[in-house]
Parts: sequence; structure tokens; C-alpha cells
Amino acid sequence: MLHRLLSRVEAGRFGRALAGLQAGWQWECEVRRADRVEGLVLYGGKRYRVAIEQRGARCVARCGCDDAVARGVLCKHIAFAAMAELAAAAAARSAHRQLEELG
Ligand SMILES: [Zn+2]
Repeated sequence: MLHRLLSRVEAGRFGRALAGLQAGWQWECEVRRADRVEGLVLYGGKRYRVAIEQRGARCVARCGCDDAVARGVLCKHIAFAAMAELAAAAAARSAHRQLEELG
């Protein structure tokens, strides 16, 4: 769901989300299910609520920023949230493998 969503993000916004990752933007995840992810993107005193949801074959994402609300696009906050969730999942898989190797 998240990979497919990221592939639909316009290149400039994708780049700004990557820059946010480098700059230490925070992702505070509140809901983490197979079909739904929701939480807050935090940086520089700003906060944006992002929700990403699988509805049948469609993946729908929302954010409270002007870019997403007024233009109806996948904004940099949505892209950042998807990246942060993918990174968290990859880290969890890696930690699991390391435990298996130790055991
Ligand atoms: Zn946004």
C-alpha cells in the first residue's frame, strides 16, 4: 500500500519529504494497521495530521495542509509519513532477523 502510494507522489514533493527525513522531521504514529495508518508529522513547531487508508483496490491519503486540501494532491507530509512507516517496518524486520541469528 505505501510503496504504491509513494510511486504516485510528484517528484518535487517526494524530494521535499526526503529532505524532511534528513532534517529530522518526526512521525508520531497513532494507528498502525494493515489497511490504515494515521498519525502526526511534526517539525519546526508545525503539525499535520496524515491518514493513509486502503479502500478496496484504492489507497486514499489525507493531510490537513493547504497543498493536500486545496490542490487535492499527495503532499510532502503524506510522502514523509509513508517513508517513515516503510522505514519503521524495515527496521522491525531487521531487528527480528538479528534476534533469529542470535537464537
Ligand atoms: Zn500535507
